[in-house]
Amino acid sequence: MAIEGITEPKKAGIDMDPAEFRRFGHRLIDWVGAFLEQPERWRVLPDVRPGELLAALPAEPPAGPEPFDRVLDDFERLIPRATTHWNHPGFMAYFGTTGSGPGILAELLIAALNAQAMLWRTGPAATELEQLTTGWLLRLMRLPESWEGTINDTASTSTLYALAAARESLSDLEITNSGLAGRDLPALRVYCSAEAHSSVDRAAMTLGLGRTGVRRIATDAELRMDAAALEAAISEDRAAGVRPMAVVATTGTTSSTAVDPVPAIAEVCAAHGLWLHVDAAYGGVAAIVPEMRHVLDGCDRADSLVVNPHKWLFVPMDCSVLYTRRPAELRRAFAARPEYLKTPEGESVRNLSDAGLALGRRFRSLKLWFVIRYFGESGIIAALREHIRLAALFAGLVDGDASFERLSPAAFSVVVFRWRPAGGTDEAALERGNAQILERVNASGEVFLSHTKVGGRYGIRLAVGNLRTEERHVRRAWELVREAAAAIDAG
Ligand code: PLP
Repeated sequence: MAIEGITEPKKAGIDMDPAEFRRFGHRLIDWVGAFLEQPERWRVLPDVRPGELLAALPAEPPAGPEPFDRVLDDFERLIPRATTHWNHPGFMAYFGTTGSGPGILAELLIAALNAQAMLWRTGPAATELEQLTTGWLLRLMRLPESWEGTINDTASTSTLYALAAARESLSDLEITNSGLAGRDLPALRVYCSAEAHSSVDRAAMTLGLGRTGVRRIATDAELRMDAAALEAAISEDRAAGVRPMAVVATTGTTSSTAVDPVPAIAEVCAAHGLWLHVDAAYGGVAAIVPEMRHVLDGCDRADSLVVNPHKWLFVPMDCSVLYTRRPAELRRAFAARPEYLKTPEGESVRNLSDAGLALGRRFRSLKLWFVIRYFGESGIIAALREHIRLAALFAGLVDGDASFERLSPAAFSVVVFRWRPAGGTDEAALERGNAQILERVNASGEVFLSHTKVGGRYGIRLAVGNLRTEERHVRRAWELVREAAAAIDAG
């Protein structure tokens, strides 16, 4: 990667000069272009041992400036081969994601502008583009356009903020002002299904509710929250002197993409005056596809909802949008403005840092703006539809083989399945066999799958979500799974 004619920075402590920047920049854009052109150049799951990269790098920081071409050489030599490639078409673990071209280019500009939009005045464009793009996304998902959206790093943060607002909505308890400790308060409780993401527990722990502040509600045969059981749990808690605070419903659970019955849950919340937060981190964007709109049925009644464009909307990590119909409570939950952040009276603007813990706010809306404009509604629909088709195709392959079974409906772009030769019933043996299959498949370096447990049964999980994943990758994954099963069967 040596850049001809450039060897040393001119002086210590001086930033790269513009001519140098252009030359290295062109070089890097070419590198990224080649990387995107050959997304299978490296193994999806690297063949590295823990500590291997560290051992290959000097432990000491450089005493003086290093030639930047040497830094780039080291990057090329060491980093991609020690990276798990989420942008690889064979990446079908967890929830597949895409760092798309427009998103990558936006990240370059985000770093160049280096805007820190804590206040409107410290980032007018970032603030207003955040308002615009989160509004666009609402329109695309057919959610109420009056909701206010802010962009956070992750869904875990967004859910934490939503539950902080829910806690604030219990205004008689004055928790934001007086705290929880040392006061004679009822125990607070959040309800979610047994399948809800662990970010709900973490939010409850952070907000002082403790792990026991989360009551997990049983699910039906399709792993959706049982709304009658929710109602019964809330009534039981009330009778025991517990104060219900919020319900978190999920649209597209992590394990099996189940969709909780939000209309019925919204009824329960309305009857008990509870905050309803919807975790649509993965599944929400599916509602952009006309035939998938039902996945957000009832969500217009939510008090808050999180959706992650960095999961299934081609925006590079990180970008999570938190919507709320009750922005005043969200702001009150975090209200604290020191003198040095005060703005002139009469400057009636939105200040993004009012809506959460983080003061510093990255210009994340730029990548959402680029991505939505680049693909447009029709492009997004076409891409999501294709992922759903590929998952359905894989589900069909599983269904067509008597020694495999599916553990979840493939309603989105995820299939959970397992090898079950001759209808085996020894769960421990099935788990061992399937874990071995997974290990063998992942050792190929061609595809990367993950696992989960559905109703206590170990399953292999295939999630399509990368724009470069084609039918041949999904078919190859199936081939590798069957080969691994056959090898294990043969002992
Ligand atoms: N909610 C759901 C349904 C998820 O699947 C995940 C992660 O996969 C999260 C929340 C947490 O997302 P994040 O990594 O953005 O915190």
